[in-house]
Amino acid sequence: MADLLSRATRILRDVFGYPDFRRDQADIVTHVAAGGDALVLMPTGGGKSLCYQVPALLREGVGIVVSPLIALMQDQVAALKEAGVRAEFLNSTLDWRAAQAVERRACAGELDLLYLAPERLLTERGLALLDQLSIALFAIDEAHCVSQWGHDFRQEYLQLAVLAERYPSVPRIALTATADAATRREIIERLHLRKARSFVQSFDRPNIRYRISGKDSPRRQLLRFIREEHAGECGIVYALSRKSVEETAQMLVENGIDALAYHAGFSAAEREARQTRFLEEDGVVVVATIAFGMGIDKADVRFVTHIDLPRSLEGYYQETGRAGRDGEPAEAWMVYGLADVVQQRRFIEQSEASETHRRVANAKLDAMLGLCETVRCRRQYVLEYFGEASAPCGNCDNCLEPPAQFDGTEAAQKLLSCIYRCEQASGFAFGTQHIIAVLRGERTDKVIERGHERLSTFGIGADRDESQWRAVLRQLLTMRLVAVDHEHWNVLRLTDTSREVLTGARRLILRQEQARKATKKAGRKPESRRRKEADSRSPTAAASSQEESVFEALREWRRGIAREHGVPAYTVLHDSSLREIASRRPQSIESLADVSGIGATKLARYGQAIIAVVRE
Ligand code: ADP
Ligand code: ZN
Repeated sequence: MADLLSRATRILRDVFGYPDFRRDQADIVTHVAAGGDALVLMPTGGGKSLCYQVPALLREGVGIVVSPLIALMQDQVAALKEAGVRAEFLNSTLDWRAAQAVERRACAGELDLLYLAPERLLTERGLALLDQLSIALFAIDEAHCVSQWGHDFRQEYLQLAVLAERYPSVPRIALTATADAATRREIIERLHLRKARSFVQSFDRPNIRYRISGKDSPRRQLLRFIREEHAGECGIVYALSRKSVEETAQMLVENGIDALAYHAGFSAAEREARQTRFLEEDGVVVVATIAFGMGIDKADVRFVTHIDLPRSLEGYYQETGRAGRDGEPAEAWMVYGLADVVQQRRFIEQSEASETHRRVANAKLDAMLGLCETVRCRRQYVLEYFGEASAPCGNCDNCLEPPAQFDGTEAAQKLLSCIYRCEQASGFAFGTQHIIAVLRGERTDKVIERGHERLSTFGIGADRDESQWRAVLRQLLTMRLVAVDHEHWNVLRLTDTSREVLTGARRLILRQEQARKATKKAGRKPESRRRKEADSRSPTAAASSQEESVFEALREWRRGIAREHGVPAYTVLHDSSLREIASRRPQSIESLADVSGIGATKLARYGQAIIAVVRE
């Protein structure tokens, strides 16, 4: 084993240019290289690929990688080729001639890794090809696709059990980023992995900072967030509807941000072109519905934002997980408001789904809302939901700037009784805007018309501004102390539990919303931003602005190479490697070799050019 580990480490350094394995990777690599089966659960960005790539290079024969995502497959192969690994793929994008050439190379023992779409592997031709090869291992990526309950179920994945029967002596490694125990059991069962060793890693993504705040004007808030904290950086903005996606993208473009829209309404070719731009160019912001994401493997996404509330924590965590896969600081930022709660509840209530289904959907939404309203550490809350205990993280808005809380019992009583009085006086119920106007003592046309300025609750809430009242109402809604009647113009109604608050039997601790003028940015600035700002003030300003310009020059150089090779920029070299070069400014090939992410092939290919850029 010790020998295996040292050989594995040598490959890691020579080929991939990384000094050390991350936690668990070394164990997994040696276990599989020694012929063992494995089930690997790691969060997105955890480094799953090396867990089969390195053993495939250590073992005799070609490593067969089954992957359902064609785009991802192509990027991985491109990145491997950049590192000098003999990798190819077989999927529907190749014409028969190209496919045949790949098959021939595989049979001649000229490949280290071969990526296959499952439907391709399972054809007679696919299996006949495998029969002719010397196979180092099978890697089954996105293994949760075997789960019939999961959202990514793929029929063909069920048939992958055939690999165990046909090739019993070839080690198999199944990998996924989907957490729960039931899915894990299904994978083991369906892929015949009962003897496999399980490697279950924490789902924490410590480099992602979570921030959630109240929504007032989402597009303006988004623009400010991108401009002030992530200018020129790559990111994803999720919105619910196609219309909102298009309008938001347009707004960003009009404000000078390199943004583009993505949703299922575009043709396949158009979607592909947009995805390619996002992957290959630096600093593009994609505004998308959740149709965008499966298989987006871009390492340097610096932020993922939601301007509409996701339906579940599962979705939220998967989407935010696309940020910061390179391990550098990244942010998950969201704004949400009263309308989100109302809208999502309505979706569920008005859906055609069965009663059970609706119950599940409501529970998932409640968990999501809980995250929005919690005053505890956000990360701790999410990890707990996925069954993992942790300490407060120090890297979410609630940890960095603990939100003010207040005893909201009296505010809630005012609001509830105002809803009650208005309905009692007029014989029918009213919506949010009117109730808040009455509370704040505003003589609007409607208030006068209904005579509500004579109600005892008129003006009893003048001490809070409208957004603060909305925040109170939002929290009462998430606690189901108020209901929205979707059948009747979204009017507000009391619920069975409202009484407990009205009688004072139940006290409420609420999250304090900042008064609107005072809304301030949560949290510390991300590292890169702090660095940029420091430039203009600190005594080392000259040095760091030089670093910044070397970094920009390196990016420019990388763009050229990426274009020339027709591959995404990050497969040439990651931002983190460029940054390291910019700060150390190596003058020789030997010192460049120490930079993380530069293996022997990249050193030979690009070493001189990089040093020339640095010298310039
Ligand atoms: P996953 O498939 O688990 O989402 P990847 O295999 O794509 O993650 O790895 C995520 C990123 O981490 C990649 O950019 C990869 O190059 C990098 N990485 C993985 N292992 C290491 C390591 N041991 N040292 C440095 N970087 C690593
Ligand atoms: Zn925290």
